[in-house]
This record gives sequence, structure tokens and C-alpha cells, in this order.
Amino acid sequence: MKLDPFLTSARFVKGVGPGKFKILNQLGIYNLKDLLYYFPYRYEDRRRLKKIKDLKEGRPQSFEAEILAKGSRRARNKLSIFQMALGDEGGRINAVWFNQPYLKDNFKVGERLIIYGKILKRNGLQVINPEYELIPEDEAPEDTLHTKRIVPIYGLSKGISQRVLRKISFNAVNEFAEVLEDNLPENLKKRYGFININKAINDIHFPESNDSVIAARKRLIYEEFFGLQLVMASKKHNDKYVRTGIEFSFKKPLVDDFIKKLPFELTQAQKKVIAEIRDDLIKPRSMRRLLQGDVGSGKTVVALISALYALSAGYQAALMAPTEVLAEQHYRTFKRLMKGFKISIGLLISQRKKKEKSELIDKIKNHKIDIIIGTHALIQESVVFKKLGLVIIDEQHKFGVIQRDILFKKGQNPDMLIMTATPIPRTLTYSIYGDLDVSVIDELPSGRKKITTWWVTKKKIDGAYDFIKQEIKKGRQAYIVYPLVEKSKKLELKAAKEMYEHLKKDIFSKYKVGLLHGQMKADEKDKVMLKFKNNKIDILISTIVIEVGIDVANASVMLIEHAERFGLSQLHQLRGRIGRGPYESYCILVSSALNDVAKRRLGIMSKVSSGFKIAEEDLMIRGPGEFFGLRQHGFNDLKIADLIKDEAVLKKARKDAFDLFREPEFIESSAHKKLFKYYIKPFI
Ligand code: ADP
Ligand code: MG
Repeated sequence: MKLDPFLTSARFVKGVGPGKFKILNQLGIYNLKDLLYYFPYRYEDRRRLKKIKDLKEGRPQSFEAEILAKGSRRARNKLSIFQMALGDEGGRINAVWFNQPYLKDNFKVGERLIIYGKILKRNGLQVINPEYELIPEDEAPEDTLHTKRIVPIYGLSKGISQRVLRKISFNAVNEFAEVLEDNLPENLKKRYGFININKAINDIHFPESNDSVIAARKRLIYEEFFGLQLVMASKKHNDKYVRTGIEFSFKKPLVDDFIKKLPFELTQAQKKVIAEIRDDLIKPRSMRRLLQGDVGSGKTVVALISALYALSAGYQAALMAPTEVLAEQHYRTFKRLMKGFKISIGLLISQRKKKEKSELIDKIKNHKIDIIIGTHALIQESVVFKKLGLVIIDEQHKFGVIQRDILFKKGQNPDMLIMTATPIPRTLTYSIYGDLDVSVIDELPSGRKKITTWWVTKKKIDGAYDFIKQEIKKGRQAYIVYPLVEKSKKLELKAAKEMYEHLKKDIFSKYKVGLLHGQMKADEKDKVMLKFKNNKIDILISTIVIEVGIDVANASVMLIEHAERFGLSQLHQLRGRIGRGPYESYCILVSSALNDVAKRRLGIMSKVSSGFKIAEEDLMIRGPGEFFGLRQHGFNDLKIADLIKDEAVLKKARKDAFDLFREPEFIESSAHKKLFKYYIKPFI
């Protein structure tokens, strides 16, 4: 029997009634494939369970015991404590749970259970907040599912116990693992020495030895990546044929003229990516290119040049930025650099006057505007383009795929350039952006000075203020950043507004201090930013609104309060606001009261300056699920593979998947049909 595990409901598995099925749904399990691929997160070696007297202090271990006594109490600090005395023939141990008073009803004296936890020595042996598994009274002593083997431990949901889920999993594996079709191409299995899928699924759940877990993981990790990369490769392949776009032919030497007039020489890296973009524009295929570059690497001018290429072929270009401050800055930059050229540039943000907006929208429709810059306002329905040839997205991680798509659909297969200043670790680039081409600006404009970063406690804050004063005396400007706008009593964070009053009055009374935060109206923000840019403000007190894109070359100090409240990539973005000109720059992270993660973050910030390195560390700390943008792509539910630990496997799987599509006959082959059905179709 060939069985389609996607089409077979988990209800067909012994032990899954309607009630259990609902609970399994909570765990994301609907069909047989889901169930067979619901892998244990760890194993317990219960082939020979330890006696209590043989438990080793300090290590997590499991043992079987009988409940001798139980009781709960409250500690002086109101913490509830539930305790049980457990024993076997030769020993005794206390199990303690904090703040789970409901547990007391789960146990009866005389019952047997299996306990797993770290063993401590405190008035005898103790184990704190351990995992437990009750042994049902009616369980046959010769049972070999839950003991006397290497036992899988699964993530649970309310209403299902470890034993019940294990039994269900066992039934599923027993009955169906054998009939699973093996979909990996034979040559790949041979090349890597993979075991077949039936054994892999059996062994990942119910292994006979550690080695069999390793062999099963090896295949399943590879296969998970391979499947994802097939989707990418297939998308990219289709694009090649289906994605016919505009064949730009440049009628004017606009770009060359523009580059000659630039106040600086483009870096080699900028030249390289501009050439890559230009080549894409000329080709009939519509471009999907991700432009990566660390903060300050000069992506804006690359965007502008790309837009000019589109113009010189008679098309319009649109640039969408995530915030109004940033859109306005781009607008001004474009205006400034384009002085003397006959090109019309528009700025569309929601806070403009109604009349202005509707005039602008009219102009876009009639191609009276060549380059339109804006925020989300660009994707509203009323905005229609006459001839949209190029879409540019700045700070792409701030947008969803859908927003990107809406703008894209306002043209007829326009080319698309997606920019990101938060560098994406290479691992992620492979797996998430596998269908995009990638250009990297891997060089900062010359003459940039290194940014020195200090991490200090609150006690040193006066010294930091003095340092800022010295910098201002040298002619520089400073940012002071706070996590919140208004003081929240609960968190007792210093809020930008309040600190603005205090700093202006008590600390920097001789200086010009400005305030910028997200709740200000766009034109107010605009005014403040302009003043800061024109050096009419010495110190800008701000919230996270300055996180992305703001460009003031004269600013040389940034003080970040409560630095522990910010994520690594955020800190890097913030710090990227300084060190943009020819001046030595300094970032002061102020933070006390730290947990380990915060310490690690700030430690990294003080040592590392490369955005790529920082993004990698950030991913490591937060995990791929939390890392920006990942949710949008559905890549946060890798079942067994780990983007970081298994990077080498990912690379191999990617190459193998893309190599397949290089063979001209492949698409028509039965091998493709099979791969398509199993790996690709479910994802498109
Ligand atoms: P980001 O990549 O972070 O968006 P920007 O495009 O804002 O960086 O550029 C940062 C600053 O560097 C801007 O002031 C810009 O004018 C300047 N810049 C860009 N390219 C060069 C270059 N080749 N040489 C000198 N300065 C440059
Ligand atoms: Mg930028």
C-alpha cells in the first residue's frame, strides 16, 4: 500500500479519538505526516534505571520511585511549595516544586513514577521542579514502551501526558513508518550514506542506541533543508521563464552624469552592486534583488542610481521606507543630490495635507512624477502609477511580504530592489531569501573612523554627560536614546520626555537640546530632524524612532540609556547613527541590573563592530523564531534542523537542490514529479 501521509488524518492512528485529536491539533498535528514528524526534544536512557542511592549530584538524571508522603506549604515570601518524599528499596529523595500548588492533586501516596531532574544535596537528596511521569497502576510490569529502553520525551500540551502521547506516537510509527515512501533521490542517499526514511522515522522516536539517533537525525536534518531549498530552487527556476518583466533600455546618460556630479567617489563595493543591478534591469527577467549592507555602507545612493536607470528608460520608480522621518530624509537627500537635473521627485506620507496628497496622487497617475518616495501611504488603493518600472524597499525587515507585494502589483512586473541595513546572517540568507539574488556592499566609505563603544553603569552617568559636553565643544553633536516616551511607573524606565526636561534644565542648560519621539506629528518630527541636521540642536534626546536610517554625519556621540532593553540588532542600528562622518565616534551604553543575556549582548556590542557578526550573535541568542521577519516566511517551524548548528548541512542541501534544476531534462522527469509532489507543492 502506498500511503499519502499528508492526506491521512491522525485520527486513523490507534489511540487517537476525537478528544485526543483536538489536543494533538494544539500541537500542530493534523495528519499522519505531522504526527510522524512530531519529534521528541530529548531522550531518556531508561534501559537501566538508576537506584536512588546511585544518583550523582549535580547532573540531570532519571529514576523510578514510589511516593511516600506529600505536602504543600507557603514560604515566607509567599512562594508556594509542593513537596514529596520519594523512595525505592535503597534510598530516599525529596522532590520539590515551586509555585505549582495545583500539582498536589496529581499524586497519591503509594503511586509510582519516573522523575527526571538535576540532583542536589540539601538535607539529603533533592530534586527541584523535576519532570515526572506517573506509572499507571494497571500498566503491565513487562511494559517496554515507557521503560527498559531509550525513551522519547515530547513537548506536551494541556490534556495529554507524556505516556499517552508516547503511546500514540508508538502506534503511529509501528503501523505507518514502514509504508512511508522514501522520496530522497537515490544518488543523494548513497552519497551521504543515509538510512532509509522508514528506519529514520522509527529511530528518531524509538532508537535502539545513541548511534541510531545520530543516523536518523543526519538524514532528517538534511531532508528538511533539502525540501525547503527545493521550494526555493523551483521558484527561482519558474521565475526564469515566467517572470518576464521590463527590458530597460537606457536612453539618456543620466546615471553617468549623476555619478560625475556626486560629492564623493563611490566605493568599489557600491560600483559592484550598481553593475549587478544594471545588468538585471537590462535583462528581460524582472529583478528580485536583495541589497545587503551594514549601516552606513551607502545604500541610499545605490537606490537613487537604480531609480535613475529606470527613469532614463522612461519609467517611474517608487521607494518605500518604514518611517516618515526616514522617507523625508531620503526625499531631501534625493532632492539635494539631484539639483540641476530635470527630474521630479515626490514625497507621499499620510500626514501631509489632503490637498497636497491628492495633487501628488494625480501626478503619479499622469507620470508627472518620476521618483516617488513614501511610507506605507504608497500602498493605499488610490495610488496608481502610469509606468512603474522599479520598486525599492528600504529596511525591508520592517515590512511584511504582503505590503511589498501590494506595491509590486502597482506596476506590470516591475523590477524590485529590497534593501536591508540589518545584515542578515549568511545562513538565513540561504534559507529565507533563497529565491532572491543577493548583492552585498561589504565595504564602508573610506575615511570612516571606528566607533568606540563603552558599557558603563548608571553611577558613571555624570562622566558620560561631561564627555558629551566636550564633544559638543569640539563642534560635534550627540544623541541620547531612551527606550520609552513616557515614564512607565512599573518599569521605572527613564522616559525621553521626562529626561528631556531634566537634562535641558539641570545638565545641559548651556546647550541646545531637542526632543524626538514617535508620538510627535510628522511635521514636528520633521522640524526637529531638520534642525539637528543643520546643527541647530546640539543634543537630540530621542526614542527608538531614530533607529533606522537617520543620517547626520556631524553626530559623534550616542548615549543609550537602559541599553539592556534593546536587542542586539537594534543596538547596532542605533549605533549606526554615529560614525557616519570623518570624526572619531563614541557609543556609551548605560546599564545596570543585568541578566545573563543582557550582559552577553552588551559585551558583544563593546567588542564587535561588524553588523554581520552582530546579527549572527543576535540570531544565536534569540533563536530563529524571534529573529526579525522570520515569521513572515514560515521558516520558524523547522522541526529538527537548526539554522546555526546545521549550517554546513544547509549549504550542501541547497547546492544539491539547485543542481537538480540545472539539468534541462529534470523538469520533465518523473524524479521531478515525485519531488514536486512531496516537497514543493505543499509549500506553494
Ligand atoms: P545606509 O547604507 O546605512 O543606508 P546611507 O546610504 O545613509 O547608509 O549612507 C551613509 C552616509 O554615507 C551618507 O551620508 C552618504 O551620503 C554617505 N556616503 C555614501 N556613499 C559614500 C561614499 N562612496 N563615500 C563617502 N560617503 C558616502
Ligand atoms: Mg539606509
